[in-house]
Amino acid sequence: MNYTHKAKRIMAIMWLVCVPLGTVLVYLKSPTHLTNWEHYGYFLLLALLSSIFPFFIAGSTIILVLWVNMAIFLKFGLLAEIISMQLCMFPLVYHMKINRQTLYKYFFNSFMFFGLSLLCGSLVMALGYEIGNLNLKDVVIYGSIYAISYILLNHIILYIREYVCGFNPVLLTKDFYWEVSCLLMTLPFGLSLYLFESSIGTTALWLLGIPLISITLLIRMYSNSEKVNADLNKASEFGHQLAERMTGKEILDMFLERLANMFPIDCGYIVDNVDDQFFILRAMEDGVNKEIQCSHEDIKYSLAGKVYEKGVPVLYKKQSEWNYMMPPFLADDMQSLMCVPIYRNQRIEGVLILAAREKYAFEPYQLKIVHLLCSYFAVSLEKARYVKEAVEKSEICELTKIHNYRYLDKQLELDMKKIEEGKYHSVSLIMIDIDKFKVVNDTYGHHSGNLILQEFARIISQEIGSSGTVARYGGEEFVILLPNYSKLQAFSIAEQLRRKVEQTPFIVQLDLDDVSREEIIFITASIGVASAPEDSEEGMGLLRNADRALYVGAKQAGRNRVAEYVK
Ligand code: GH3
Ligand code: MG
Ligand code: MG
Repeated sequence: MNYTHKAKRIMAIMWLVCVPLGTVLVYLKSPTHLTNWEHYGYFLLLALLSSIFPFFIAGSTIILVLWVNMAIFLKFGLLAEIISMQLCMFPLVYHMKINRQTLYKYFFNSFMFFGLSLLCGSLVMALGYEIGNLNLKDVVIYGSIYAISYILLNHIILYIREYVCGFNPVLLTKDFYWEVSCLLMTLPFGLSLYLFESSIGTTALWLLGIPLISITLLIRMYSNSEKVNADLNKASEFGHQLAERMTGKEILDMFLERLANMFPIDCGYIVDNVDDQFFILRAMEDGVNKEIQCSHEDIKYSLAGKVYEKGVPVLYKKQSEWNYMMPPFLADDMQSLMCVPIYRNQRIEGVLILAAREKYAFEPYQLKIVHLLCSYFAVSLEKARYVKEAVEKSEICELTKIHNYRYLDKQLELDMKKIEEGKYHSVSLIMIDIDKFKVVNDTYGHHSGNLILQEFARIISQEIGSSGTVARYGGEEFVILLPNYSKLQAFSIAEQLRRKVEQTPFIVQLDLDDVSREEIIFITASIGVASAPEDSEEGMGLLRNADRALYVGAKQAGRNRVAEYVK
């Protein structure tokens, strides 16, 4: 959640105005004053010990300290509880990794807990509780009212904050249920602490403190493993999704974006190394893809080059740990870094760098997950490369090495779609059929026929160059697609081709008895031309019409000629 500067400033001002002044006022106005400092010291110690083991639920930090603070309130009064709660903020500040940018979190939490202490304490006293009262029934009733109102008010304040800041808050969040469950567990401990301490002294603090802090540690371990489990589940789902992607582009598009959804990343960079040269394959800064050019040398002598060389993933908590080898592409204000080599077939292919503006943003287990995901990434890219090669291979004619019908069909559809989209004004199609090719085969053998087909394909491909697509339609028939060529232009190209074929000497091999000798022969071709959209608006229709022109206009008219489709 990103609060505006204004909202953050208001939180700081609220703290400044209310907390120091409020504490002084409570000191002056509170009917009870601290007298037994030694006992209070033990309580404070227990409160601080309880607050140094927070756990994290649904993105919130929870500390189990209310039970001690409630006992402090019941025994020593409002001021003692306020001081204790404010001191417990410090371990919390450490765990929340608060820095200058996130200082507002301290101000807000300190303000909120001050308000809660004040409101709940005043409420219980207004209802008739007298500090130090040891009547069992009163302690249970007032203690429970104190603790329950504390949790409820806490969530109401958080709800109001989200609402005022323009977010869509939810009242009964997952951490609310957690806090209620924790309250049910710790409330009896808090009440017992207060009652026992008054009869058996500070021993009660250890008798109750040790089991409760142990339970806190267990919950913490559980919540940490839950967090790791949740991230591992996300990683496995992510891995499967990567594996499903068929093209390198799709994989690259998805990789950084999904990583940014999983981890608190502000920027991500994929550094690649091809032929011993480093370059930035992909860069994403604040969710936006960036084109970044950096010299090989600059990358090589930076952190990226070092990780590439060593092949070991590293985690940095703040800029001072790595700024002497700052990668040239990295945004200036980054603090936390995860640098992970990308391995494929036990060879390092590149380096992934993930960065965050916050210090201490990443945890060691997250580095391991990123490392794992990098393997998925590299394997998926390799698979995409194989798929691409296989698709390309399946679209090439083995004999002539030009495109085959499968590719032609796909390309024809794409070209026709571009007419529909207004990207091409026309697409012309030339269909060529070698004349009397059966006779060539019968006279010179099938092998010679094959050599002619290869040479024929080479010649027409050379003539067309990058102006269009040349494909073997089948047998001794070839098709040329010419996007943005009018029928007249295509006719003229077809005529040039016809003449070129007619004038080209083809070498054939004659295997007579044991002697093999070469002979030069000449062949001709008949050609049909049709254009979209005038002759047909769909691919198959265009092919059919060019074929018709070829047979009716060229073959039947005597061969070795070009004919255009006429309706
Ligand atoms: P037309 O002028 O009417 O086109 O006569 P044609 O003999 O070329 O036509 P036809 O369709 O009767 O024969 C085509 C021949 O092309 C038949 C076949 O032997 C030959 N052919 C088709 N594919 C190949 C190939 O891959 N290699 C060789 N060597 N010949 C092939
Ligand atoms: Mg034919
Ligand atoms: Mg033929």
